[in-house]
Amino acid sequence: MKRISFRLFIVFFLAAAVVITAGVVLYWRQVSGILERDVKTHVAAAGEEAASDFNRLIQTDQQVLESIAITVEDTYPWTDSAQLTGFLQRQTQHNYFKSLGVITLDGDLFLSSPRSFNSVFVTDVLARTLEEGRYLSVRQVDPSDGEDVLVQAAVLTHGKEPIGVLFALQQPQRYRPLLALSALGNKGYSLVIQQDGVPVLGYQKVRFSNLFEALSGAEFDDGISLNTLRQAVARGEHALVGFRSETGHRFLHFIPLAMNGWYMVSALPTFYVAQQAQHLTALSLGLFGAIFIIFCALIFYILHMRAYSNRQLYASAFVDQLTGADNFNRMCEQFPQKLAGLNGKAALIIFDINKFKVINDLHGYERGNQVLQRVARVLRENIAPEEAFCRSTADNFVLLLKYDDRKSFRARLKALSTQLRRDCTVEDSCLMIDVAFGVYEITEPIPFYIMLDRAHLALENAKKMAFDKCDFYDDADRRRIVAEKQIENTMEDALKHGDFAVFLQPKCDFATGHMRGAEALVRWNRYRQGLVKPDDFIPIFEKNGFILRLDMFILEEAVRLLAAWKVKGITPVPLAVNFSRLHLNDTRYIPQMLRVVDKYDVPHEMIEVELTESVIFNNLTRAQNVIHRLHKMGFSVAMDDFGSGYSSLNVLKNLQFDSIKLDKEFLSGFEKNSHAQKVIEGAVSMIKSLGIQVVAEGVETREQADFLRSIGCDLAQGYFFSRPLPAPRFEALLKSGGTLTQ
Ligand code: C2E
Ligand code: CA
Ligand code: CA
Repeated sequence: MKRISFRLFIVFFLAAAVVITAGVVLYWRQVSGILERDVKTHVAAAGEEAASDFNRLIQTDQQVLESIAITVEDTYPWTDSAQLTGFLQRQTQHNYFKSLGVITLDGDLFLSSPRSFNSVFVTDVLARTLEEGRYLSVRQVDPSDGEDVLVQAAVLTHGKEPIGVLFALQQPQRYRPLLALSALGNKGYSLVIQQDGVPVLGYQKVRFSNLFEALSGAEFDDGISLNTLRQAVARGEHALVGFRSETGHRFLHFIPLAMNGWYMVSALPTFYVAQQAQHLTALSLGLFGAIFIIFCALIFYILHMRAYSNRQLYASAFVDQLTGADNFNRMCEQFPQKLAGLNGKAALIIFDINKFKVINDLHGYERGNQVLQRVARVLRENIAPEEAFCRSTADNFVLLLKYDDRKSFRARLKALSTQLRRDCTVEDSCLMIDVAFGVYEITEPIPFYIMLDRAHLALENAKKMAFDKCDFYDDADRRRIVAEKQIENTMEDALKHGDFAVFLQPKCDFATGHMRGAEALVRWNRYRQGLVKPDDFIPIFEKNGFILRLDMFILEEAVRLLAAWKVKGITPVPLAVNFSRLHLNDTRYIPQMLRVVDKYDVPHEMIEVELTESVIFNNLTRAQNVIHRLHKMGFSVAMDDFGSGYSSLNVLKNLQFDSIKLDKEFLSGFEKNSHAQKVIEGAVSMIKSLGIQVVAEGVETREQADFLRSIGCDLAQGYFFSRPLPAPRFEALLKSGGTLTQ
């Protein structure tokens, strides 16, 4: 998920970068397009302005010339040539003309200043002016100084009759400022040409004799040819063209002027445009650069914040704040990769510190925390990078370690526990750190939590050990637990459905060979398993308390049988019922017992209570009290399993029993052991001397029976006489007289 979103983020970033770049390119193209159009309009406007200024100036000069002409006409027939030339001289000074002159129809000349024109010039000006009414010449050379001049002329009339022409010589400088195209930063210039391309006037001295010829090598934009341009100009049209020559790219604007079919041509080199564009581009690129940098900075910031918050999140989600080690979440998360990294040759270990609570209680939480931190440090030192560990809960650590074989692994854990004990024990205290390891060797691909359960199971066993507390999970343990669970799940229904049954095992009187009583033993008729012996379920019921109800049920079954036999007229024998140690702590025990027995109206002396020796020792006073009350109510009490524990004599000393049942283990193997025989013999005679009846349990052979009889045992219970029998068979035995002697 994280990776996907990061990839998405990268894609988004690249996309954004592409969009920004595309934006820059597009913007640049747009800007240069606009710029080019702008420059073109500028060129056009500047050209138009120069052309109209030029037209206006020529017009003004013409008007000035014509107003002078009126005065000149008034002095006709110019008899006083000095007066006329003087007048012309004055007008020259007043009106910026370089020189003024009059040509009479006869070809005579009057000049403001002396200079000698050739006759061709004189006749040409006279003829053209008379023909067209006014005259504007192409470049002429001033004979006085050899400089280029423009000639402008007007007709002189006298009573509608032409009498000559007035002409003026104009210096080109007068027009040059108009050709400078100042509006374009003096980068452009204009020139005046004739329609055929011959230059009339340039801003500077014109170096070519024909513009079109000069342009013959040029390459025009937009596929325009020189010919088309030439034709457009011949037709008197406006034209704006771009072209490329050896000196670079330029724009040319052709504007027709008002006289002589002349054209004003404005030229602007494109580098000016480029320069302008560069400025703008630099500016916009700078702007985009700034935006991009801000964008990148923002991205960087976001990434940084993301990484930071990820770290924070990681720390709070995956790190144990106390020890700085991984926490359980982290372990769960990384477990599959780590396990794969160990090639499946791994073990999951849970370890905990024995009696950690005591450390907290005795030394305070601070010390407890210190111990945990030290444990984490020791683990960190001992765990390879491909392995893992975490603190899962208070003093529980989970480890995933490389596993080769049990022997070396056990050695590794032993070394670890030694180091833990050495490095983690709280100073100034005599309390030694003691740890227990539960190991599950990972042998099958089961879920992590099941592996943990298995390690836990092993840990429980390990904790029971005296030293080197380390246990490996065994599948039999699991099966046992599953079976136990099943038993717990079905016990209630079994009780309800009557799946528990009473078997009765007779007790034989050595003296008579007759049955003198029987012990009620529970059997569980389990689905698909048949009869199940109590050893498989009684310990579980003792753990979960169900035994309290089961014992009462068995008592009731026994009492019911006694009542039934009475009804059937069968002589009964007393029945012994086993009661768990749990009853001793239960105040309801005796009232409940009374209720059950009295419900069937069975005499109390027909019921014998069996209590095991170890239980009695654990609760001596309470046992004393209970036994006393049972006796008072007429029940007899037997001590079960005498000799199986180590407290027998002490118990005997303090409690009043009606009978003692010698445990079958106590009796086992006495046949070839005279020492054992003496002990048994001594015990029997001691018990008998207290006036207590002795019952031998687990008698399987004649030899045993003979020996027990010979040492004075009163009763015997065992397969040699009878196995525990189902009620109907026991009833049949009773009816037949109860003879048991084989
Ligand atoms: P226990 O009270 O010592 O009962 C005697 C056990 O020895 C019975 O086992 C019986 O079948 C067995 N036994 C009898 N004669 C021989 C023999 O010659 N050789 C051998 N090897 N065994 C013999 P069972 O019925 O399996 O009962 C086992 C234990 O379960 C009992 O030991 C008793 O402690 C407990 N138990 C049985 N029924 C009840 C019950 O209703 N309530 C309680 N609380 N415990 C019961
Ligand atoms: Ca018993
Ligand atoms: Ca017993």
